[in-house]
Amino acid sequence: MAAGTVAAGGLHVRRNDTVLVLAGKSRGRTGRVLRVFPSERRAIVEGVNFVRKHTKANPQKNIKGGILEREAPVDASNLMVVCGECQKPTRIGHRMLEDGKKVRVCRRCDGVLDK
Ligand SMILES: [Zn+2]
Repeated sequence: MAAGTVAAGGLHVRRNDTVLVLAGKSRGRTGRVLRVFPSERRAIVEGVNFVRKHTKANPQKNIKGGILEREAPVDASNLMVVCGECQKPTRIGHRMLEDGKKVRVCRRCDGVLDK
């Protein structure tokens, strides 16, 4: 499933974007993008796709053993950017500004997503 136009060499989602999750366990949830992995076309979204990791205790580093819940990367094609202007999930367009800067724009309201 395609979720927006992807710029060459990058993902349509960027760090600190608010995104809507389109597939998987967290479908329908929104969250902030914490990290992107462009080469893997994946992103970590706050509060989405928690996995349990078992950690070993390491008293020297003051780490307690047990189960740690952490976000795991999700496929970026399952994420849709939520526009900060119209507050709706949207496809992304691109526009060149007068100063030559390329920005992402909302296809719904034409709002600029990169400030
Ligand atoms: Zn918009």
